[in-house]
Amino acid sequence: MKKVFCVGELLIDFVAENQGSDLSKAIKFTKKAGGAPANVACAISKLGGRGIFIGCVGEDPFGHFLLDVLKAENVDISLTQLSDTFTTLAFVSLAEDGERDFVFSRGADRELDYDPLLRKSFKDNILHLGAATALLGGPLEKTYSKYLFDALTKEMFISFDPNFRVDLWKDEEETFIKKCMPFVEKSHLCKFSLEEAQLISGIADPEQACDFMHEAGAKIITITLGAEGTLLSALGIKKIIPSIAVQPVDTTGAGDAFIGCLLHQISDLGNFDPVFEQFDLLEKMVAKANKAGALTTTQYGAIAALPTKEQLEP
Ligand code: ATP
Repeated sequence: MKKVFCVGELLIDFVAENQGSDLSKAIKFTKKAGGAPANVACAISKLGGRGIFIGCVGEDPFGHFLLDVLKAENVDISLTQLSDTFTTLAFVSLAEDGERDFVFSRGADRELDYDPLLRKSFKDNILHLGAATALLGGPLEKTYSKYLFDALTKEMFISFDPNFRVDLWKDEEETFIKKCMPFVEKSHLCKFSLEEAQLISGIADPEQACDFMHEAGAKIITITLGAEGTLLSALGIKKIIPSIAVQPVDTTGAGDAFIGCLLHQISDLGNFDPVFEQFDLLEKMVAKANKAGALTTTQYGAIAALPTKEQLEP
């Protein structure tokens, strides 16, 4: 089984308990582990795979809390760095008008240093770049580009999820798009939400958006469509792969469960050739990943709601 290196942010989400008021009025907050690339590493390990998280947290109680959460999910955290800078914190509340009120206190996640020695262990494994905060600048952004280069030279399977967060890119969407493109060009697999595919391609129609991304270089594209399932585009074929019917209570983490499950199945292959040759194999993998995404919506929270291998059995 191949290793899946997931690079990016791990942070604390402080979610206001009294939803319906903005942050200035919020009194109580629930502390939750957050960060899409970390969720993906958890999703892989929970399915019995080899999820490795590469990120940076502060040498403080929040950083240690986050590492304990990942450890409890059997994620390999040996490559996670500790910094003197405080752990990154996000505070979020839903105001009365339904708008998200958001304060982001960026700390240690941006400090991730590049490790040239890692290249050796990259060979023939999988690299997942789940951008989110990584394109916001700082050492992490430089580290991202260097690992992308290393992955290309070490024949890794490269996966990219832009994880666009509107709160982080207000009035800076053009910069976000420009920064995403090198990753779209060089990744074997790109996972987008519909909104991300439309934003990055500038095209409303999802099938045409896929054509744009393929022309840029992406080999396999998935556009997640919530309850409708996933649009899979590869090998000249486009098809919506339906999901299963569920009663959702919280959609947080569904996309991370989806890409984690897909990468876990790819990590189980002896080599990567079949995913570039067999659409029906990809289709089966996406159907299973849809189920992982769907099941995640049936419980509260992201990491706690990620399914186990047994839950995905037919
Ligand atoms: P995120 O908000 O985590 O970034 P996303 O927008 O990328 O997620 P979604 O489309 O919400 O991802 O969900 C990922 C996958 O999970 C979908 O493609 C679908 O297969 C499955 N899924 C999500 N919500 C539902 C639902 N309500 N019913 C059935 N399946 C669902």
